[in-house]
Amino acid sequence: MKRRKLSTQELIDGIRSGNRIVLSRAITLVESQREEDIQQAEQLLEAILPLTGQSFRLGITGVPGVGKSTFIESFGTLLTQQGKKLAVLTIDPSSQRTRGSILGDKTRMEELSRNPNAFIRPSASGSTLGGVSGKTREVMLLCEAAGFDFIIIETVGVGQSETHVRGMVDFFLLLMLAGAGDELQGIKKGIMEMADAVVINKADGDNLKAAKRAKAEYQNALHLFPANPSGWLPQVKTCSSLDRNGLDGVFEMLQKFEQQVQANGYFNKNRSDQQVSWFKENLNELLKISFFKKPEVRTLYEQKLKEVQEGKTPALNAAHEVLGAFWPATE
Ligand code: GDP
Repeated sequence: MKRRKLSTQELIDGIRSGNRIVLSRAITLVESQREEDIQQAEQLLEAILPLTGQSFRLGITGVPGVGKSTFIESFGTLLTQQGKKLAVLTIDPSSQRTRGSILGDKTRMEELSRNPNAFIRPSASGSTLGGVSGKTREVMLLCEAAGFDFIIIETVGVGQSETHVRGMVDFFLLLMLAGAGDELQGIKKGIMEMADAVVINKADGDNLKAAKRAKAEYQNALHLFPANPSGWLPQVKTCSSLDRNGLDGVFEMLQKFEQQVQANGYFNKNRSDQQVSWFKENLNELLKISFFKKPEVRTLYEQKLKEVQEGKTPALNAAHEVLGAFWPATE
């Protein structure tokens, strides 16, 4: 049976009142690629904009197995105990390829998924055209409008979506493990540079000593990175997501960060910069999409691609020729 389409006003009212079913429907709408949905989604986003921006946005990354879902389950529970309303958006770069994805596992965050003050939603990472944009930002805005005041965006630390997530959060947290000397190799240095904090998970049992050692090593490593424009010095913490130890330390760190960057003006500046980048990224992507929509462009593109491959046409000339096919022919 086909569900009745909700009007934009019904969506706005539902979101405002914190209705999760309506929120889910709104998210599906915003993620849709259908022409008529895109229009309604934009009306909706415009209408809810004044209700957004009031949350703290936390990005979490780390290699598979580091304990991201366990951490979010435990830390998220702590957040709700602190009176927060938490939305967790998981970005899974593999979801497009495999459908049955690692993050799709139903057993992830079981406790949190039953928590009335938490909302968990997987989010596809990119468009079919190879862009990295996805709609996670827009989904985040919908969640904020629905009253969620703490947003966690989780991504698998394999180097594809980190920069993207860094660009939409206030604080970027890298989860790591204590290892035998190979601590800095499991994760790309660039990701480490983006982190506002490294949290060493599984600091429990036999691992406790190694975790403490790793903490000192990471602290030294972080000192070597260029200063953060926020004025915040990246921190290193240890925790056990399983035993739920050290999580309050992470929470206090985030509070401290928020106080500091609110006071020095970086919080608002960063958000404003992020919005501008998002506008530019969208414009780029939309340009690309409308460009390749034109059949003449696609045909000439394939032809020129081959010529460039075979060394028959200089790359720059080929690019100009394809661009020429985009503009309507003039007499
Ligand atoms: P993800 O792939 O990063 O989401 O990792 P998971 O949260 O699924 O955790 C991977 C494995 O590590 C699971 O078997 C967890 O039970 C275990 N794990 C997660 N956090 C901890 C922790 O703090 N201590 C210990 N000992 N094990 C943990």
